[in-house]
Amino acid sequence: MNLASVVRAESAVLIPTYDRHRVLFRRGRGCYLFDARGRRYLDMLSGIGVNALGYGHPAILRALHKQADHLLHVSNLFFHDYQALLAQKLARISGLPRVFFTNSGTEAIEAALKLARAYARLRGANGRRPRYRVLALENSFHGRTFGALAVTGQAKYREPFAPLMPGVRFVRFNDCSDLRRKFDGSVCAVLLEPIQGEGGIRLLTREFLSLARKLTERSNTVLIADEIQSGLGRTGRWFAFQHYGVQPDIVTVAKPLAAGLPLGAILARERLARAFSPGLHGTTFGGGPLACAVAAAFLETVENEQLLERVREVGNYFKSRLEKLQQKHAVIREVRGLGLMLGVELTHPGKTLVRQALAQGLILNCTHDTVLRFLPPYLVTRKQVDQASDILDRLLTRWRPETKKQRRLRA
Ligand SMILES: *Cc1c(COP(=O)(O)O)cnc(C)c1O
Repeated sequence: MNLASVVRAESAVLIPTYDRHRVLFRRGRGCYLFDARGRRYLDMLSGIGVNALGYGHPAILRALHKQADHLLHVSNLFFHDYQALLAQKLARISGLPRVFFTNSGTEAIEAALKLARAYARLRGANGRRPRYRVLALENSFHGRTFGALAVTGQAKYREPFAPLMPGVRFVRFNDCSDLRRKFDGSVCAVLLEPIQGEGGIRLLTREFLSLARKLTERSNTVLIADEIQSGLGRTGRWFAFQHYGVQPDIVTVAKPLAAGLPLGAILARERLARAFSPGLHGTTFGGGPLACAVAAAFLETVENEQLLERVREVGNYFKSRLEKLQQKHAVIREVRGLGLMLGVELTHPGKTLVRQALAQGLILNCTHDTVLRFLPPYLVTRKQVDQASDILDRLLTRWRPETKKQRRLRA
């Protein structure tokens, strides 16, 4: 089928949840994707931070083929070779010794919320009323299932599905006094992204994260870091929290974990683990042998190829190229990010720019309406960064952002 017939077929049979770009991808190699007509695209988005080793990495293909020959699924009623192996690796890089596997980011958030509530109940068992409330941040994004949606601080995602899970309050982003005020005796957990991803590549301040740590530590409640986007090497360290010198009680991971296969996890402190006992939580698919074997190969490859150093080095270079663009183009308000998690805040909505970049063979996306987001593979080279920056430079030079009036007319 060609692009036009796929578009037509989809529109007849799919529930319309996606507003896709009109591109039909057929294969990938390194940091490039190829469409049905053989046209090449430089990928600065990696399937939203998933394909951290790009496409067709030999170590991933080896692990995939080997495990596919042996065993795809057994359920969590039985043992297989790879959950402990992968959990050991995750524990070593995070300092958090206990792991539960899921299929996705949003399910990792669900598991983290349930574990925090179960832990509060365990502690409150001696007559006290258990703490139950979760503090989350405004402008956050934690996923689309009902629990994750309830802690997502953006009206556009929440409102169509109200009423959501009760027992959640939102704290203003980086506002220490708001956090202090809302952190009362009902709170069992504080949930935050050290760097908000979907919310526009916004970094927490050291003061705010330290305060969240201090308040939860003192009350023996739970600090949850959502590192589904920022974790596993994206920022040039294994986890963004490691830039801050703060150790959370639970960390959620997913996106790049199994190099393109669906896999997520929560990593937790020892004392939290006993709040779950057999039967309290579980999943049919989560932590299957194929995804876990490939994830182990992913973590080994990041280590063997010393990609954390590389993410830092190329990330700094990319950021400096974007800052040069900022000096030149008044439509760039700010450049933000760490490692290869970068954002360019524009003065106007960036949707048309993303479309024009795609037509020039460059893949990026625009989040939060006005923030161009870059999440390239960890293997991206300086030369590819130059190519992307040059395309962006040319596009920005002749970019005429839509005015409010034009937008209204179009709508
Ligand atoms: C993508 C993302 C999620 C949701 O993950 P899914 O796998 O899409 O369910 C949650 N939190 C953050 C920070 C994310 O970037």
